[in-house]
Amino acid sequence: MAMRWPPTPFTADDYAARMARATRVALDAGLDGVLVAPGPDLVWLTGYEPTALTERLTLLILSPRVRPTLLVPTLERPDAEAAVLTIGVGVVDWGDDADPYRAASAFLRPGGTFGISDATWASHLLGLQDRLPSTVYLGFGECLPMLRAVKDDGELYRLTAAGAAADATYTEIAELPFAGRREYDVAADLARLLREFGHDRVDFTIVGSGPNGADPHHEAGDRVIEPGDAVVLDFGGLMHGYGSDTTRTVSVGEPDPEVRKVHEIVRVAQQTAFEAVRPGVACGEIDRIARAVIADAGYGEWFIHRTGHGIGVTTHEPPYLTPGEPQPLRPGMCFSIEPGVYLPGRFGVRIEDIVTVTDRGARRLNNTDHALRVVG
Ligand code: ZN
Ligand code: ZN
Ligand code: ZN
Repeated sequence: MAMRWPPTPFTADDYAARMARATRVALDAGLDGVLVAPGPDLVWLTGYEPTALTERLTLLILSPRVRPTLLVPTLERPDAEAAVLTIGVGVVDWGDDADPYRAASAFLRPGGTFGISDATWASHLLGLQDRLPSTVYLGFGECLPMLRAVKDDGELYRLTAAGAAADATYTEIAELPFAGRREYDVAADLARLLREFGHDRVDFTIVGSGPNGADPHHEAGDRVIEPGDAVVLDFGGLMHGYGSDTTRTVSVGEPDPEVRKVHEIVRVAQQTAFEAVRPGVACGEIDRIARAVIADAGYGEWFIHRTGHGIGVTTHEPPYLTPGEPQPLRPGMCFSIEPGVYLPGRFGVRIEDIVTVTDRGARRLNNTDHALRVVG
């Protein structure tokens, strides 16, 4: 793929194809259509992101029986039209004196079954249920979990660029001092570097030093980093609308022998799982392979989370690499492989790369060295 930045914007055809696919997949799943409130699914389907998330109902309705329609509050109509008329979506508005659920119900079949986006506020779902009690609503996670999982070339390009920016961030942070600084300070540097390298949003900057590293989602705190600490660095965000998410564990000065040992086990687990990725393999099999390496080395009970998650317009989305997950991998899927070992009260180690499934195997979107890096 030729590297061109900024990327060419998605076209009306791209969005029309996504909406058509959503409708088709919904029909295949036995649904009458899909309902999408503001959030990642609406952004993916239309590029539309209302300036403010409000309690007023905004809803995209996709169904073979109607033209794609965006129901919006009257005051949002100008922005909505500017965003979606060119991609073939009709706009219908409702005023503050009207019942938005009545307006929505005109497009829904009583007794029908509709997929509804996971980011829809519960208040809106309750409003729809109240208005059309015989209609069944199923969350996308349940009925269309793989809708966004296979990325097209434009998406893959953005994810590749976001991964490269995260790699550049790691390369720079590893040159900065750690000992004597608070986790917060290193986290602030990670956020600054992500932005410098092109991210428009920073979602998380985890700096887990010493015992804090044993808590996988510890963000950052006021602990002062000490010589001898293992430090888990896990950071990412969005760049041109697509996510990055990478983890490296560094050692401040000479590592403790057990840190070195555990790091090597996690490194082998990550590499072995990566090498097992290819089309047709179940997500759960990749999880099993990573888990087996760690269990065989005697640390199985300390690998306390799934092996990975998908990434796209959000930093956590399907497919999920959880034990027993039967979903087969397909070319174009993008997800993390991030095994870890967490020893309570002592330290944690995690290594995470985003990878994409190719026709024959996998390609990494993060490419910094996996060796245990000694920092100052
Ligand atoms: Zn996470
Ligand atoms: Zn991460
Ligand atoms: Zn992750």
